[in-house]
Amino acid sequence: MIKKQKIYRKRKKRRRLRKFIISLLIIILSVLCFILYKQNKQLKTKQVQALASNKKPEISDNKNLENDIGLTNNEIKREVKQDSNSYDAAKIQDYLSKNKKINDGEKIAFLTFDDGPSTTVTPTILNILKQNNVKATFFVIGKQVDENENTKGILKDIYNQGHAIANHTYSHNYTKLYPSGIVNVQAFVEEIEKNNKALKDVLGEDFQSRVIRFPGGHASWKGVEKLDEELDKKGYKYIDWNALIGDAEGITRTKEQYISRYSETFNGQEKVVILMHDTYGKKSTADVLQYIITDLKNKGYEFKTLK
Ligand SMILES: [Zn+2]
Repeated sequence: MIKKQKIYRKRKKRRRLRKFIISLLIIILSVLCFILYKQNKQLKTKQVQALASNKKPEISDNKNLENDIGLTNNEIKREVKQDSNSYDAAKIQDYLSKNKKINDGEKIAFLTFDDGPSTTVTPTILNILKQNNVKATFFVIGKQVDENENTKGILKDIYNQGHAIANHTYSHNYTKLYPSGIVNVQAFVEEIEKNNKALKDVLGEDFQSRVIRFPGGHASWKGVEKLDEELDKKGYKYIDWNALIGDAEGITRTKEQYISRYSETFNGQEKVVILMHDTYGKKSTADVLQYIITDLKNKGYEFKTLK
């Protein structure tokens, strides 16, 4: 009898030990899976934010001297406050380029359209935005406006419909802006100012924008440090992106391919800046826009402009 009990106890012990080992294995496996998942996610984020990985000089936020764009920082802050659809571009510049957290807990999407306006794509995009009551930011090229009279009315439409108009240089000419891949500081600043003038010619002297985007993205070029200092002195804020649809990646793609690029690069960023284009030949961008707006709305995002 005692022997039987002993055997029974031994078996029980062994069973318990087995259970313990299995549980331990499950825990170890789960932890491993979680680590792999996190690493993969971080890798994806890094790929998209590779643009913003350069070291930049510290940018002071509370200068109140009037700068070249003719606005003091306090005036800009007031303007942002008055326009409930807008968001402080200075915060987004630091968020994208320096990984500086914004702890307001708000999920905000910034739809951005580069290289326009065009007579073929911009009006369709404006219609979709209007139907959805969503505001966006247009990074405009002055040359496009000067070369085609019909785009002047479209530029005014963008402005009057409450979207933000930002500066994408006058010509978008890489050879001029970045000879051999190195920033030409003087040429770049001239291009920004020339673009400002072209926009003022159409929108009136009161038009102001301190928001710029480097053609090709800020981190694609060498020698940006000197230019960054210059732009900061003048009061400009540059905005890259942390999600895209791939509408500038070579040949024209289908709507489905854009959706898949969007899904790859959008990973729930609290502030998401989506790179898109409204220039000639980008019809598929207009086709995919409704999908993106609906998706972001469903995920609880608000839409704002960069000012
Ligand atoms: Zn561009």
